[in-house]
Amino acid sequence: MRFLADDLLEGRRTGTRGHLLAAQFIASQFESMGLIPAGDHRSFFQDVPLQSVSVDEPASSFGWTNAAATESLKFREDYILYGDPGREDSQVTAPIVFVGYGITAPDQNYDDYKGADVKGKIVAIVFGAPDFPSAVKAHYSASWLKRKNAAAHGAAGLLLFYEPRFESLYPFAKQVRDLAVPRMNWLDAAGAPDHYYAALKAYGAVSMPAVRRLLSGSGHSAEEISAGMKSGKLAAFPLPGSAEIRTVSRRALVHSPNVVAKLEGDDPKLSAEYVVYTAHLDHLGISTPVNGDSIYNGALDNASGAAEVLEIARAFTRMPHKPRRSVLFIEVTGEEEGLLGSDYFASNPTVPPAAIVADVNIDEDLMLWPLRDVVALGAEHSSLDAVVRRAADRLRLAVSPDPQPEQVGFVRSDQYSFVRQGVPSFALTAGFKSDDPSLKPAKISQNWEAHFYHQPQDDMQQPGLNFDAAARFAQVGFLCGVYVAQDNDRPRWNQDDFFGTAFPGAKP
Ligand SMILES: [Zn+2]
Repeated sequence: MRFLADDLLEGRRTGTRGHLLAAQFIASQFESMGLIPAGDHRSFFQDVPLQSVSVDEPASSFGWTNAAATESLKFREDYILYGDPGREDSQVTAPIVFVGYGITAPDQNYDDYKGADVKGKIVAIVFGAPDFPSAVKAHYSASWLKRKNAAAHGAAGLLLFYEPRFESLYPFAKQVRDLAVPRMNWLDAAGAPDHYYAALKAYGAVSMPAVRRLLSGSGHSAEEISAGMKSGKLAAFPLPGSAEIRTVSRRALVHSPNVVAKLEGDDPKLSAEYVVYTAHLDHLGISTPVNGDSIYNGALDNASGAAEVLEIARAFTRMPHKPRRSVLFIEVTGEEEGLLGSDYFASNPTVPPAAIVADVNIDEDLMLWPLRDVVALGAEHSSLDAVVRRAADRLRLAVSPDPQPEQVGFVRSDQYSFVRQGVPSFALTAGFKSDDPSLKPAKISQNWEAHFYHQPQDDMQQPGLNFDAAARFAQVGFLCGVYVAQDNDRPRWNQDDFFGTAFPGAKP
């Protein structure tokens, strides 16, 4: 972890030399453990073809015309646009219709588009989802699904309206700062970007002050939207005017590897199946300085998880008997750009797709307090829940429910890429229990989110790193994989489960 988070690796941004050094280090470690290369061409590396896209800001624009006047909104102040991965120049002139969260969830009897006419129009939405069960809420909050849904309803563009709740999760100013890191997509064999909906000719976000201006004259207010989000009553309504949005995008090809290693199981039949461990190795690289530091080391995001997967792999290689199923250890790239390395692997696996039985993902093990409980995001949807409980029990740790459903953690890391391919999966994280009343993990975590998350200060100098907690956490992760590898039956989604139904996956 100390090596991965060192300044020498320059923040391990996808496509940079720093990330390649990290990947080479991981591959060397895997090799020294005697693991088998399981990437492309019998190497430890799976090449992920990526395309970066950034917006040419001076050439892009957002005009708004209503009964009163025409105004040009200001990039970075009023709005930002995300680059278009499929086109260099994209334009749309259309009215805006607010459609709440922008969610259509028949299984939850919920539809923000009910009664709204959005054909050829730009839809405006807020972040998040209503209070569905945690992982389902997280799934419906995912931006790819909201874009897909908008396109399916005939919309011509999508704008995310800032409101206080999202402002506290991901401040607009931070979003503006993150423009320095170009967004990316992975490309399929035909060169098409992943999760791209060409019908949407504009995609961006609007700051809170600008949302107020766009709403003026609509008979609706920002306060009404906030109140509707709280009460669960958000109705669609049209805004009184027309937007003219132009997005000029600059695109470039980037190559970056996933690192993939295999431990062969010893059961004559089950060894053809794979338990997968994932942790993302990439972080944000060198970017805007904060307090004089410009290297985003990503110690807890996610050098900790990457190192834990290494140690889990090491533990597997030291078992007196090999596990029955085979195990894949994947240190993925492109997580920070949108789960790209994991999605690429899950969509183009180097083993038969139906042979993948589970993914155990580790991202952001905060390791800042003694570990008393773990949380397995999404495990409650499958037989993996029992696996996690058994592992935690054995180590005398508790299993707690997701303490922060509003963070929609289940869709925000690499396990979700496997879920979309029908693979029961979960993200293991540390819980907030403490047996010392003066130590409040929820507070520590909140403070970390505010001052360290995606900041250069997430480095090895940050206070409170607790390596005993990390070791214990890795032990839980190890045992989870062992139990899955040894079980006669592969993990299954619960009967009629939401994810099992939504993503049937490859048939074994
Ligand atoms: Zn991150």
